[in-house]
Amino acid sequence: MFSFSSNAQEKVLNLYSARHYQTDEALYANFTKTTGIKINRIELGDEPLLERLRAEGNKSPADVILLVDAARLWKAQAEGLFLPVQSKILTDRIPAELRASDNSWFGFSSRARVIVYNKATVKPEDADTYEELADPKNKAKVCTRSGSHPYNLSLFGGMLERVGEAKTEAWLKGLVENQARSPKGGDTDQIRAVASGECGIALTNSYYWVRLLKSSKPEDREVVAKVGLIMPNQNSYGTHMNLSGGAVARYAPNREAAVQFLEYLASDEAQGYFANGNNEWPVIKAAAQRNPELESLGNFKQDRLSAAVIGSRSAQAQKLLDKVGFK
Ligand code: FE
Repeated sequence: MFSFSSNAQEKVLNLYSARHYQTDEALYANFTKTTGIKINRIELGDEPLLERLRAEGNKSPADVILLVDAARLWKAQAEGLFLPVQSKILTDRIPAELRASDNSWFGFSSRARVIVYNKATVKPEDADTYEELADPKNKAKVCTRSGSHPYNLSLFGGMLERVGEAKTEAWLKGLVENQARSPKGGDTDQIRAVASGECGIALTNSYYWVRLLKSSKPEDREVVAKVGLIMPNQNSYGTHMNLSGGAVARYAPNREAAVQFLEYLASDEAQGYFANGNNEWPVIKAAAQRNPELESLGNFKQDRLSAAVIGSRSAQAQKLLDKVGFK
């Protein structure tokens, strides 16, 4: 006999998320509406989230893990924290280079690591490659968040792959020598510091810039007016890309619901919320919504390094940071 769900029968999904974007709310609400599965969510940074998962071990209530960096996804996979998933929906819809080779995690949106510059003090042709940020001509101009932040570690891991260890070390040393100030704050803080003139050039993830483009606050309009955006390395290997992705936790108590949730994230509708809501690029091209500010970034050459390659270099990148004193 049909009965309304009691607490014991209520279907739930325990989500550990490192995504910190308000627009994800609509996504979760819609999943619950469609499936009747209630989402319990824990939000933490990438590393604290993985720490917790490790500590909980096989007692972990986590079903789905969302992370915002390719290297972290790779590392968690290597540590055996994820459960490979058999899903035709996921393997059909998500391109092979945007998921783990054993299907233990899937990318759901992508972001570019771009360069912003002060239009009054820097010529774009002096800052249109990552390499040039370390050139003496940009002395005392460069600002970044901490070198050890996953967004930077992944960029530096990509650099290791592209130019090798010796050149990467020299490049990082040059970056330190060109710093306008000690690394601090998040990516948006770097963009604001470029607008104020404290910095001439900075690195940021693309969506932080698009968020400012969309803002109607006068102080943000002013920032946007003073700052230019560059998609780096268009004449070489392309702009560094990173991923936000998800996985089923190794000891997920609600496996079916977990796979259902990942499949939902790959739907056209969810891709619209997940990617466009945070001004990222959906991994499913057909899902692109009207997002004129995101579209204003145009088509550009993307570096196609796999997350596995980038991730496998991050420990080496961290060693070089320590060596050159990049905080
Ligand atoms: Fe972020």
